[in-house]
Amino acid sequence: MGNNTKKNKTLKVDKTCEWCYKPTNMPSVFASQIPILDWVEDKINLWCAENGYTRDQVWGESASWDEIEIPEELEMELMVYDELIFTIKKKVICSECLSDDDKMWKKYYLNDLDKDDTIDWSIEDIN
Ligand SMILES: [Zn+2]
Repeated sequence: MGNNTKKNKTLKVDKTCEWCYKPTNMPSVFASQIPILDWVEDKINLWCAENGYTRDQVWGESASWDEIEIPEELEMELMVYDELIFTIKKKVICSECLSDDDKMWKKYYLNDLDKDDTIDWSIEDIN
């Protein structure tokens, strides 16, 4: 390592990604407090599958926690996650994180919004 890096020494890096804390030159964007977390999303999906609920019933705008019995521990986790994910503020996020988050968004949320449209999925899968 070291002799072949493309690092531009004149490039001024004075910002830090607020998600992964790596230095970045990206302008600030509107972003959530934390990136979409794969393991939390998986946990939601798994719990839905195990308990016979659809993801819509448990997570998202149409979720109604009054009508379903979510274990207290999971409910606490989801409440925290919900707040972090849906609190949007202007932040500096590096391109790597943005691209990862975009993938997560497509994986877990785009499908919710466009249930009948599977074109995006097949394009993603080819790449
Ligand atoms: Zn980052």
